[in-house]
Amino acid sequence: MAKKQFKAESKRLLDLMINSIYTHKEIFLRELVSNASDAIDKLYYMSLVEKTPGVSKGDFSIWISIDREARTLSVSDNGIGMTKEELESNLGTIARSGSMDFKAKAADGADAKKADTAGDAIDIIGQFGVGFYSAFMVSRRVRVISRAYGEEQAWEWESSGADGYSVKQAERAGSGTEIVLEIKEDSEDESYGEFLDAYRIRSLVKRYSDYIRYPIMMNVEKRRPVEKPEGGDEDAPTEYESYIEADTLNSMVPIWKRGKGQVSDEEYSEFYKDKFNDYTDPARRIFSSVEGVVSYDALIYIPSRPPFNYYTKDYEKGLQLYSSGVMIMDRCPDLLPDYFSFARGLVDSQDLSLNISRETLQHDRQLKAIAVRVEKKIRSELKEMLNTDREGYESFFRNFGLQLKFGVYDGFGANREALEDLIMFSSSAEKKLVTLAEYLSRMPEGQKYIYYAAGESVDRLDRLPQAELLKEKGYEILYLTDDVDEFALRVLGQYREKPFKSVSEGDLDMDESEDEKKAAEEKAESSKELLAAIKEGLGGKAAEVRLSRRLKSHPVCLASGEGMSLEMEKVLAAMPTGGGAKAERILEINPEHPVFAALQSAFESDRERLNAYAGLLYDQALLIEGLPIDDPVAFSNAVCGLMGGR
Ligand code: ADP
Repeated sequence: MAKKQFKAESKRLLDLMINSIYTHKEIFLRELVSNASDAIDKLYYMSLVEKTPGVSKGDFSIWISIDREARTLSVSDNGIGMTKEELESNLGTIARSGSMDFKAKAADGADAKKADTAGDAIDIIGQFGVGFYSAFMVSRRVRVISRAYGEEQAWEWESSGADGYSVKQAERAGSGTEIVLEIKEDSEDESYGEFLDAYRIRSLVKRYSDYIRYPIMMNVEKRRPVEKPEGGDEDAPTEYESYIEADTLNSMVPIWKRGKGQVSDEEYSEFYKDKFNDYTDPARRIFSSVEGVVSYDALIYIPSRPPFNYYTKDYEKGLQLYSSGVMIMDRCPDLLPDYFSFARGLVDSQDLSLNISRETLQHDRQLKAIAVRVEKKIRSELKEMLNTDREGYESFFRNFGLQLKFGVYDGFGANREALEDLIMFSSSAEKKLVTLAEYLSRMPEGQKYIYYAAGESVDRLDRLPQAELLKEKGYEILYLTDDVDEFALRVLGQYREKPFKSVSEGDLDMDESEDEKKAAEEKAESSKELLAAIKEGLGGKAAEVRLSRRLKSHPVCLASGEGMSLEMEKVLAAMPTGGGAKAERILEINPEHPVFAALQSAFESDRERLNAYAGLLYDQALLIEGLPIDDPVAFSNAVCGLMGGR
């Protein structure tokens, strides 16, 4: 029979599997058992919703059998089964969502090349969870015999790997699927024979699949003493005979229904990795069992790293939803607010109807009540983490903090209470992450604002001229380096009644003495004409030119007026839809700097020179802000002119 070819990306994945040096080859069993369980879930769910006759939960099971002579291991289920078309489309292409992303990744040249090296292959295998194809890590040939529920004809799919697959008619009593693995021969460095050992299989099931809700059965050879014949020799040695008995290998209790003390950390982690396709242990686990107006169990995990598509529109948030142990939805988005979209896990409630659908979900009162509590629970867990495991929290924040800050911004302040104590920023004090509460606790008396500076990096911000005087006064400055930061703080407006203030905006309103204020006012008054001349020389580039009260050693800086800041202007300009909106540019000059005297003398003797100076200073201020200057050539010529003494 003619072989059919795998789709290109499936072939790649398959090649990876076949030649894999992945050390956890044993996970293939978990994947197959998990698929079997999903297939039974589908049929069971259908029977409940559509009241299909003749299907009852008690009949469902997964069978594992070993034939040492034929070197086969098979996993079989009496679930929903697959039609011929489904066999081809599900197994001939990579259907799973994670693998779809693999496709995207493999399409990107660098990564595709990366995947060719063994070490990175491991990463890909681990990262995407590989489902059915993992069978090829241990098999030289795989056969899948399946009969779809409601169909008479069964079909057999078979493949030895990369050279393609074929499908032919087959026999099978009842719906379901049997996967037969022809286990590879042992090689010098790999013993595949272990997967033909009943004890090994039993322990793998116990380890990875114990919680599966349907019995996982295996025929096991046992020994029993042969009964001695009546009146025979009492002292004769006992003889044994062997017999076959079916054992149930798993406890079948969902992990979240077992007593807290009865599940090890490792089991919780394995469960997480299996269910949620991650290859690293979760950072945090939250378990809550609630009884009351609405009763439910929730098992929620915080991943220790973001999925690679987390900050893209492909990422779907949501928790798995179960109704009395039956899964009714894989990702129920209504259980999580966007700002906690990183959480993975499940909710199981007896109060939810099996018939709940995506459309009716949003109006379901019970579900809403659960969502409110889940949100609170995650929030309090994060707070607790912040208080007791600082390092852990910082690492969490580096992974998902951006999402929390988006949450502040998106909610237009509605999420203030939920989030203001969870967000962090770098600061001038220790150049590490601080919370707003920490900032507040360190504020010197008399400080009226929470100061911040926005820019592209902590290093750059730390050298910002505008911040010099503030720092000298002992004020701490939050360094905002993510695009969303300043927008988020603007939405918050204040924290515990202390308003936020940009170091580059308006009057810094530092705690100054009356004398200091007076001196500054006098100076401004006496420089009025000079400043007006400079403004004129700039020909409308600056909305205002004034003496600075934030600079110390630098001659100039740009400040913005009320409203949009220069940093916000940059962020908006970088957006596909944004741009156009401009912040008001105010040129500030340091009256204590020698440059100021030079301006003064040019003002008195040589207006052309004053205009040239003004243009230069303005361009410098732009450069310090990281903004482009209008005419770099003119700037360069002007600098050279000065050097040449012209
Ligand atoms: P995933 O399970 O993540 O979707 P797999 O590669 O493991 O990815 O399986 C691909 C698809 O093949 C499944 O989504 C399912 O539709 C189908 N499938 C696999 N095993 C079985 C089975 N035992 N019974 C029915 N369908 C199955």
